[in-house]
Amino acid sequence: EYVLMKNHIINRDEAYINFDDRGYYFGDGIYEVIRIYNGSPFLWEEHFDRFLRSAEELDIVLPQSLNKIKQNILTLITKNNVINGTVYLQMTRGEQERNHLYNRDITPVITAFTKEGGVPVHQQKHGISLWSLEDIRWLRCDIKTINLLGNVMSKRKAEDMGSQEALLHRGHIVTEGSSSNVFIVKNGTLYTHPANHYILNGITRLYVEQLADNEHIPLQKEAFTTEDAQQADEMFVTSTSLEIVPVTKVQGTIRSDFPIGPVTRKLQHAFEKSKTM
Ligand code: PLP
Repeated sequence: EYVLMKNHIINRDEAYINFDDRGYYFGDGIYEVIRIYNGSPFLWEEHFDRFLRSAEELDIVLPQSLNKIKQNILTLITKNNVINGTVYLQMTRGEQERNHLYNRDITPVITAFTKEGGVPVHQQKHGISLWSLEDIRWLRCDIKTINLLGNVMSKRKAEDMGSQEALLHRGHIVTEGSSSNVFIVKNGTLYTHPANHYILNGITRLYVEQLADNEHIPLQKEAFTTEDAQQADEMFVTSTSLEIVPVTKVQGTIRSDFPIGPVTRKLQHAFEKSKTM
């Protein structure tokens, strides 16, 4: 199995990370997770657009052209012969003796690995339960940084409470999941949090926007409350790994049960059709 380290594709057991990597000290870096369907990356350009945006927001300058990075990733996918799976791409600010103040003359460290594996079919079919809790993350959740402690803590809590994902809310406003975006359906209309600093603008979220448009399902990118969530007709979460997964139960700070409804099923169906085109 091969991985990408800096500009080289090497065996995984030959890969190493420098002790002074700022990703290790500060979580000072960014990442993307991209799906591979049938040997081809899915929503490739969208992921790289977001990657560039995250880099820019953190004042990290690419160490090589974006085209070269894309080439390396494609080569990695081919060399690992990934048919269905994901590729993880990470870029840390670089290597420097530990200091909060970063230097601008260090070289960012790009690494990537691939993973075989399909989508969670059982969850897509039968739904999952969420554990709702206060969103304790920082105020730049729009940047896809590897600094993910708030997400990591809420995911563990959800799992410990017998749920599969967290439902985060800031006060009474529902933001997103620990590693997914959240949608509700009320009277045939979809609602999801607007893409601002409080959420990660998911690539799957963007794609569902398009699918909803094609299917003539109205969508409001509008903050909704925990009360709205409790009274929703349907709820689902989206991410690169999950695609579209129905939510059948919410526990924690709010409690509710949901049927797996027609809007969720329609979007799942549209997603399934479109990804193989
Ligand atoms: N929100 C958070 C906090 C995430 O970590 C993720 C993905 O891991 C998402 C949303 C979904 O984003 P995407 O659809 O681009 O995978």
